[in-house]
Amino acid sequence: MIIPDSGPVRAFLEERHVTSAGEIASFAAREVKPRPEPRDDGAARVEAKKLLQLLGAAGCFEPIRSQDWRACCLAREALGGASPLADAVFALQGLGTLPILLSGNAAMRDRWVDAAIQGRAMAAFAMTEPEAGSDVASIRTTARRDGDRYVLDGAKTLISNAGIADFYTVFASTDPDAKGKGISCFVVPGDSPGLRFTGAQVLSAPHPLGEIAFEDCRVPAANRLGEEGKGMSLGLQTLDRLRATVGAAACGMAARALSESSTHARARKQFGKPIAEFQLIQEKLARMATELTAARLLVYRAAWAADRGADRVTLEAAMAKAYATEAAQRIVDDAVQILGGAGALASHPVDRLYRSVRALRIYEGTTEIQHLVIAGRLLEEADA
Ligand SMILES: Cc1cc2nc3c(=O)[nH]c(=O)nc-3n(C[C@H](O)[C@H](O)[C@H](O)COP(=O)(O)OP(=O)(O)OC[C@H]3O[C@@H](n4cnc5c(N)ncnc54)[C@H](O)[C@@H]3O)c2cc1C
Repeated sequence: MIIPDSGPVRAFLEERHVTSAGEIASFAAREVKPRPEPRDDGAARVEAKKLLQLLGAAGCFEPIRSQDWRACCLAREALGGASPLADAVFALQGLGTLPILLSGNAAMRDRWVDAAIQGRAMAAFAMTEPEAGSDVASIRTTARRDGDRYVLDGAKTLISNAGIADFYTVFASTDPDAKGKGISCFVVPGDSPGLRFTGAQVLSAPHPLGEIAFEDCRVPAANRLGEEGKGMSLGLQTLDRLRATVGAAACGMAARALSESSTHARARKQFGKPIAEFQLIQEKLARMATELTAARLLVYRAAWAADRGADRVTLEAAMAKAYATEAAQRIVDDAVQILGGAGALASHPVDRLYRSVRALRIYEGTTEIQHLVIAGRLLEEADA
């Protein structure tokens, strides 16, 4: 079992989703799960490119184009359980491409959308900077208008696909005095003069992460997505839609961990019987299954709300991301405990999940930031 059956979340799905859940789950089991984990950062970069082509050729990224968020969640659930790296490749195609779909002009869409969706162009999303993480409004990279071009200068850190992306969706300030209201968004091709990959940042779970710098990097004004000064709102809109899918990836990792550990608990004998017969193990399995179901309900509720065309799904998405990623961390940790020493070996799939799931509580807005969003909304409603 890579993903649990659609039963608990069936109420949020349409017939096409049930069909696509089966298709993506069997594709992930057949084509993605058997691929070995890359040994190091260099191998992860090569593997990420191969996964991009594999997923693109199989049509996995189509739900990004159609902005079918429940289908995106189903894809990330299946991929997250089969290979966290494949899931990351999916995530970045979404993050890098959605701003173009939401605000790109015809030229930008023609140049990048088909290529990204078909797995011919790798996307990246460059928002975070050394001094601007959760506080996005304090971005220092600048984009100065010079005739029919913008000149970008600055540095970005913790960027997935840095150094291997074909294009970067970049957030830079066109009016530093205006803080968040002065940020604009640009598509910067990976081979632009003045854009440099300045180094890899190595994670314990191989994932192509790194730093980039812009030094007098000139891009056509037509590469700006949306109006000048509206970049932060475009970035937040993008994250709003994609946060539920991070929760879905967490559910996929948790489901795989639950499956691996319950299989082990039935087979492993200690004190003369399978450890699954010990109530302390059963309590863990029960909590894992319950939290996973609760997480999936929150995730598909948020995706369903987005698919219904809700203008903003900030609250639903924040609850889904915060709960699902925190629950997945606990579930994967319990799975390692049930597996005992075997679960702590680097070669075990659950150890890979343990190393991979941690970042989900941080990227696309930390749990603390999601909690601020949720509490803010609650208090606003109480005031009203
Ligand atoms: C694997 C991985 C991949 C990533 N990929 C990308 C990418 O492709 N593109 C990109 O732009 N970024 C990416 N990031 C960066 C990620 O989005 C940031 O790490 C994240 O937004 C947090 O920023 P920070 O690391 O600067 O932490 P900080 O913002 O410095 O936060 C540090 C701690 O302080 C807490 N904190 C901050 N503000 C508050 C507050 N007001 N109240 C309470 N607590 C607060 C945070 O929750 C956190 O616990 C990635 C990160 C990781 C780990």
